[in-house]
Amino acid sequence: MSIAMTEKDFFAEITSVFKKNSLSSLLSKEKAEKFYMLTERLITENEKYNLTAITEPKRIILQHYADCATLTSLLPKGAKICDVGCGAGFPSLVLAILRDDLKILAMDATGKRVDYVRESAALLSLDGVSTLCARAEDVGKDPSMRESFDFVTARAVAQMRVLAELCLPLLKVGGKMIAMKGKNAQYELADAKKALSILGAKENKVIDVVLKNDEEEVSHPLILLDKVTKTPAAYPRPYAQISKKPL
Ligand code: SAM
Repeated sequence: MSIAMTEKDFFAEITSVFKKNSLSSLLSKEKAEKFYMLTERLITENEKYNLTAITEPKRIILQHYADCATLTSLLPKGAKICDVGCGAGFPSLVLAILRDDLKILAMDATGKRVDYVRESAALLSLDGVSTLCARAEDVGKDPSMRESFDFVTARAVAQMRVLAELCLPLLKVGGKMIAMKGKNAQYELADAKKALSILGAKENKVIDVVLKNDEEEVSHPLILLDKVTKTPAAYPRPYAQISKKPL
């Protein structure tokens, strides 16, 4: 399958959506060109890599690009970020296109998706991105990676109690976790209270992200957590334990 939109129409659409959602200052012609190349690649490689259920360019712009772009205002210059369960590079590739100051590790347990992200980053000359095919719970045990990131991001990876154990061991004390969640975020957060306390984190805030184009409006919450104390050495546990007996 190839992209069902001309480059000119794509530029008009991404410019309009970023403007409508107060994201215009992030976009330039060069960045819009990179998004066009990424969209072509996402659509053509989707069958091979099983990357996304969203394949219509207008919805890719709104629900992938604008959605991930909303994180940029939370990330200070030069931040070191781990994107856990990056899949097709959401949010990692979008952040790297918009902000070349960020140092982003895009990590996923699925080799094909990591290959796709690495090749996309090379094609688009995104020097701030590196990739790792690994499970977050293994990386969180690695002394060279544990508690080394300023931010950990995760979009659509796991329910909060599980996600907290996958992500928080990777965060420095003083760092922030950003979970891009669905409608049940408040419930998941309440359910994860004990997990956060054991793993050394506190709720910072929940932000409702609302995004629109000229046809639809979509919304979902972001959960922000602060890492306040070191994670005890016993965590993360092996995945079978994390998922069977979440904290
Ligand atoms: N973040 C992307 C997005 O929003 O499109 C991908 C979401 S996809 C539903 C979830 C991804 O998390 C999958 O690619 C899966 O391989 C990865 N994943 C799940 N558990 C993981 C773990 N423990 N460590 C690393 N990656 C994991």
